[in-house]
Amino acid sequence: MALLNVSCLRYYKLSNVQAVRHYHRVSKLFQPLSVKPKDATVTKDEAISISQKLLMDTGIISLRSNGMFALLPLGERVMMKLTKLIDKEMSCIGAQRLSLPLLTSGDLWKKTGRWESTGQELLKIEDRHGKEYVLSPTHEEAITSLMSEIYPFSFRQLPLRLYQINSKFRDEMKPRFGLLRCREFIMKDLYTFDNSVEAAHDTYQEICSAYDRIFHRLRIPFLKVTGDCGSIGGTHSHEYHYISPTGEDTLCVCDNCGNSKNAELVSSDKSDSCDKCGSHVHQVAGIEVGHTFLLGTKYSKPLKALYQNESGKPELLQMGCYGIGVSRLLAASVEVLAEDKNIKWPWEIVPFKICLIGPKKGSKEASSALWVDHLAEVMSGMPGLLDEVVVDDRDRLTIGKRVMEAKQSGYPFIIVVGKRACEMVPMFELLDCTTGKSEFLSHKMLINWVRELP
Ligand SMILES: [Zn+2]
Repeated sequence: MALLNVSCLRYYKLSNVQAVRHYHRVSKLFQPLSVKPKDATVTKDEAISISQKLLMDTGIISLRSNGMFALLPLGERVMMKLTKLIDKEMSCIGAQRLSLPLLTSGDLWKKTGRWESTGQELLKIEDRHGKEYVLSPTHEEAITSLMSEIYPFSFRQLPLRLYQINSKFRDEMKPRFGLLRCREFIMKDLYTFDNSVEAAHDTYQEICSAYDRIFHRLRIPFLKVTGDCGSIGGTHSHEYHYISPTGEDTLCVCDNCGNSKNAELVSSDKSDSCDKCGSHVHQVAGIEVGHTFLLGTKYSKPLKALYQNESGKPELLQMGCYGIGVSRLLAASVEVLAEDKNIKWPWEIVPFKICLIGPKKGSKEASSALWVDHLAEVMSGMPGLLDEVVVDDRDRLTIGKRVMEAKQSGYPFIIVVGKRACEMVPMFELLDCTTGKSEFLSHKMLINWVRELP
């Protein structure tokens, strides 16, 4: 009897899942558009980047205080997709996700010398007992301290790869360009542990390949350059950049062999010739979206993070750390891909894949409105489209006005149910914002087109 109950329950749950067809309505979306008076003048201090302007104007982010932004629901949807994409690639290389406290004990930062050397960008706070903490900009100290407290940590557990995706803090002197340079941001930081320098090098190559895959999946051209070890330290470092005039890094790229470096690494007298092949080098501006470091024992030594080798002797862990500025990547995508006043998202991170727009209330074609919910029902029931369809149901607005706003928000495909939906054979307009083309499709053709979506 008990068995029968369980199987009934399973059946019930399964049929319930299949019945879910969820889509969204623009009238219910919390997407406060920022409306500025037409005669408002922009002073120089207010000059902002394309991504900051578009993300704020379309209600995707909201400025809360200097250098700090709220991610509103559409922004959060993009962030979730970006996180999922990164999680997938991290899992492919056997990295495990964890979560460290955002506050790290000041004592640990003193042990590595970074309490002093990081300077005023480090946000320090004190609790009621007078104990000092940092609002962490990065977690080398925290994770190395965690590893140092596990002993004996066997060589059999190496290589070990641990990462997190959470908020980081940097007390920027002058926060600017929205999410590109702010004081609180979201970062993916991965830390690797190996038993030898050679193994750490192999890990480094493997992580770089995973980074290449992440950036390839976003389909935005990127440049991988030899980087500056900066305050993180270590022996070996690469940076991933999106090319954009807003970028604050100058990159030197060889015309011939492609050898690329951050300009900070090039002495000024050698800045126009390649140190590998001697050819001419040109400069471009880049937005840094990822950074990899081979750390050696820079942190494991002062914090005594050891493992037990095959003969039972303690040895220092060889480390690497690897960051992706996730909120910066979101903004940099907009910065690079935006066209005119419209956001263009990489397909993998669009907030919604399809936006449906029906006729205006009281218009001649108002009777075609019935098609809108029907199409939304059918489409959101298709594989890959559950939760991916949004209906702009604000039928007091013209179709044109809503199409314009859908384009600004960066929805890749807009389906308009308008005048021609009232014809004997109803026709629907499909606007492909990725190519700028539009065409009229019958119901059957439209459904077939949706089935073909990646
Ligand atoms: Zn060269």
